[in-house]
Amino acid sequence: MIKFLDLQAITMRHGDEIKAAVNRVIESGWFLQGNENKQFETNYAKYIGTESCVTVANGLDALKLILRGYKEMGVMQDGDEIIVPANTYIATILAITDNNLIPVLVEPTWDHLEINIDAIEKHITFKTKGVMIVHLYGRIAYNNKLGQICKKYDLKLIEDCAQSHGCAWHGVRTGALGDAAAHSFYPGKNLGALGDAGAVTTNDSKLAEIIRALANYGSHKKYVFKYVGINSRMAEIDAAVLNVKLKYLDEDNAQRQKLADYYYTHINNRLLILPTRIKDEYNVYHQFPVFCERRNELQEYLKKNGVQTLIHYPIPPHKQECYKAWNSRTYPITEMIHQQELSIPMNQVLTRPEAEIVVDVLNSFK
Ligand SMILES: *Cc1c(COP(=O)(O)O)cnc(C)c1O
Repeated sequence: MIKFLDLQAITMRHGDEIKAAVNRVIESGWFLQGNENKQFETNYAKYIGTESCVTVANGLDALKLILRGYKEMGVMQDGDEIIVPANTYIATILAITDNNLIPVLVEPTWDHLEINIDAIEKHITFKTKGVMIVHLYGRIAYNNKLGQICKKYDLKLIEDCAQSHGCAWHGVRTGALGDAAAHSFYPGKNLGALGDAGAVTTNDSKLAEIIRALANYGSHKKYVFKYVGINSRMAEIDAAVLNVKLKYLDEDNAQRQKLADYYYTHINNRLLILPTRIKDEYNVYHQFPVFCERRNELQEYLKKNGVQTLIHYPIPPHKQECYKAWNSRTYPITEMIHQQELSIPMNQVLTRPEAEIVVDVLNSFK
């Protein structure tokens, strides 16, 4: 069976170095808010190209804390609207509703799979305070027009970079394109820790300072509490592991890009649609989605022939039970994506012979 994602193989690629880093933390006896986190914040801010990086417990917290930070600053208030793609992982939407803000769902385009930037302006009201884009599947969700819209209407541009570590637009990395960005280091992401971990990157030092306090019980000074905060911190062990793995991120992404090139040149089954390649983007292929009207049958066929796949995602946010009030709405493109999407194996440890099998099985589906 060709695994969709072999986390053991991915970790063991740098196993000795990772184990040494973990050992170093164990022996130091210092497990939170230490040098490893400090180091990672410096390294990751430099990698992304922002002034600040604040480590937190996970990607969802990173998203939530950005919005919470803007509320503390008076930029946003309960009931304000945030424009967001209708096709995203639920966490993006949860972060908005958790802050008593209103997600305004905007359809993606079918060929781009990311929010339709040309449709954003007509959704802007007097309550709109921000646009939260998601660089889904490792693809860019930004263009210059979006930057101009946000400037014109004075909207905060927030990036969900949970799937886009290293992705760039004209040489500027995602995480440095907007006002603030959330990153997830969930083990299965392009840059993954040994458990949950996340970070915020921003050039807004005031926002960074507030988020740092919010994530630490609302305290910026020991035993003094300025905000009603939460506890959201990255373990030193995870920061140590990420300090090792960050060094190899570009190399890993290059491997993914080579595999994507191979897929684009060799998959030729007319029953499948591959995502359009976007000029000017540096795609880091967190996922390689293929689209098929008989998606479930295709998944079964691949499984029978030894290829494991995953669906990202089977049910769109507006059809989820947790957002019952939206269940009767229709977002046709979003729904089509959720009905037809299938993610095939895409990672830095898939071998050439394995890729050949994936392609052969895909091409023999009738
Ligand atoms: C993984 C993911 C998140 C959440 O990150 P966690 O670290 O799992 O909380 C948010 N948004 C998107 C698009 C994701 O893929």
